[in-house]
Amino acid sequence: MNLILLGPPGSGKGTQSSRLAKEFKLAHISTGEILREAVRSKSYLGEKANHYIHTGQLVPDEVMIEIVQERLNALDCKEGFLLDGFPRTIHQAEMLEAFTRIHLVVALKVEEEECVQRLASRKTCPGCGLTYNPVNHPPKKENVCDQCGAVLILRGDDKPETVRERLKVYVKLTAPLIEYYQRTGRLEFVDGTLAPDKILQNLKNMLQSKILLWK
Ligand code: AMP
Repeated sequence: MNLILLGPPGSGKGTQSSRLAKEFKLAHISTGEILREAVRSKSYLGEKANHYIHTGQLVPDEVMIEIVQERLNALDCKEGFLLDGFPRTIHQAEMLEAFTRIHLVVALKVEEEECVQRLASRKTCPGCGLTYNPVNHPPKKENVCDQCGAVLILRGDDKPETVRERLKVYVKLTAPLIEYYQRTGRLEFVDGTLAPDKILQNLKNMLQSKILLWK
């Protein structure tokens, strides 16, 4: 099963993707995480991507397509994968169609204002990438990652002015993907405003019903 999880920044797609990928034993491919890792390791890709990430802009399509195409060739993707953060433009989606088959696209629905508020208070683990929110997903110990024990940080691109830019970019370049996938009959919506455990349950129920239909 090859899936895409779509949603604006702050919709919770990172959190839900990693939990869902574990549940269904899918390779979790977060393009944001791949880029942040490249920035941390100061690789050539990281040097190129840094400016785009920190100004809330998209890394050029050609760079992203090459990264994803290469990643999808890895052995762990053979039994299925979950794309989180890709595609983000119609061109990326068209290129993706050219080299793999996507069975289902799930869009997490959350209003823009709620995304801004969530990101303003979001804390991220610099070690494993898990994100936390004081309201609906606080860490067990204040400011410390439940999973790996690292001290949580405010991500550079979660600053209010960058968040506004990321949302603008989302509306202009990424939101049209909803219509693009709707036309092919592969799109499902899930309410992203519920509690994280409830969202996960709804995602699981929906995927399980799809799997039964496909069998
Ligand atoms: P994310 O963690 O998915 O919110 O991504 C963080 C940042 O990485 C984005 O704001 C973009 O600058 C960059 N990025 C991640 N995925 C893509 C993509 N598919 N296309 C272009 N830029 C991307």
